Amino acid sequence: MANQNEKLVEKRDLIILGSGPAGLAAALYAARADLNPLILTGMTLHGQASTTDIIENYPGFPEGISGPELGQLFQAQAERFGADVEMDQAIKVDLEKTPYTVETYGKKYEAKSLIITTGATSRKLNVPGEKDFVGRGVSYCGTCDGWFFKGKDIVVVGGGDSALEEGLFLTRFANTVTIIHRRDALRAGAILQNRAFSNPKIKFIWDTVVTEIIGDDAVKAVKLENVKTGEETIYNTNGVFIFIGHDPNTELFKGQIELDESEYILIDKHMETSASGVFAAGEVADPDFRQVITSAGMGAAAAMRATRYLEELEETK
Ligand code: NAP
Repeated sequence: MANQNEKLVEKRDLIILGSGPAGLAAALYAARADLNPLILTGMTLHGQASTTDIIENYPGFPEGISGPELGQLFQAQAERFGADVEMDQAIKVDLEKTPYTVETYGKKYEAKSLIITTGATSRKLNVPGEKDFVGRGVSYCGTCDGWFFKGKDIVVVGGGDSALEEGLFLTRFANTVTIIHRRDALRAGAILQNRAFSNPKIKFIWDTVVTEIIGDDAVKAVKLENVKTGEETIYNTNGVFIFIGHDPNTELFKGQIELDESEYILIDKHMETSASGVFAAGEVADPDFRQVITSAGMGAAAAMRATRYLEELEETK
C-alpha cells in the first residue's frame, strides 16, 4: 500500500522554474512547440520586474508599461498556447539522474527537461539593525513600500540604476530622498543620473557607507561612515531603501550543476547547464545584463534548445 505521506508524482516533459520574463518567455516558446510546459512560479510571481513601477526600455511600449502589467501580459500569452502556470515553489531538485525530480511542498514532479529561471534576490547590507527593521523602515522595493513614506525623509543606499530609478520613484511620496553611495561617482546610466541630479527632492552623500540602522518601533536614523576620512555621523531618517545589487537564487542547485565564483549558473551558448537537458535563463545565469529584454531572449532560446533536446530524446528511444 502507498505510504500516506508520499507525495503524488506528476510526469512532465518540461518544467520551468520561475515566472519572471525569462520563465514566461520560455513558457511561451515551449507552449508553441506543443510541449505543454509546467511553470512553477516561485515566491515572486512574474519575478523582480513585477516590482518595477514603470519599464521604459522594453520594446513595443513607447509610453512604458508597469512591471505588474507586463508580467500579466507575458503570462496570458504563454497560457493562451497551453502553458500551465502553477503558483508553487520548488523546494528540492534532483539533477543526478533522469528523469529529473522537482519537489514542492505538496507535490513531486518528474521531468525530462528543466529550464531554471529562478532569478536573483536583493543583496543585503549585512549591518546591525537591517534584519530587525525589515517592514519597519527597511525595504528593498520602492514600488511595494513607497506609499508608507508619504511626507517622510528617507535614504536610498546604492549608486546603480536601481538606486536611482527607485530613488526617483520614491520622490512621489517622500519629502526628501538622500542617496548614500560608497564612491564619488555613480554607476547608473546617464539618463537616470540627469533625472536624479535635477530632482529638487534628491540629494547625495558621497564616499559613505551605512554601518548601522537605528530605531525603536521603526527606523529613526542610520550610522554613516565616510570611507575617505573615517568620520562617523548619525543621520536621521524614517526609511532605508537598499539597492546594492542582487545575488542569484541557486541554493537548490549547488553541487548538482556548475556555478561560477559568484554562484551564477554557468551555461553554454545554447543556454544548457552542465547537466544535459537542464537549461538556465535570465538573471540566475546572467550577472551582466539583467534586463527584461535580455532575460526574455534567453528564455526563448532555452525553450528552443529544450524542444530540440526533447525531440532528440524521442528519436533515440
Ligand atoms: P548594480 O548595477 O550592481 O549596482 C549596485 C550599486 O550598489 C553600485 O553602485 C555599488 O557600488 C553599490 N553597492 C554594492 N554593494 C554595496 C555595499 N555592500 N554597500 C554599499 N554599496 C554597495 O545593481 P543594480 O542597480 O541593482 O542594477 C542591476 C542591473 O540591472 C544592472 O545591470 C542595471 O543596469 C540593471 N537595471 C537597469 C535599469 C534600467 O535600465 N532602467 C533599472 C534597474 C536596474 P559601486 O558602484 O561602488 O560598485
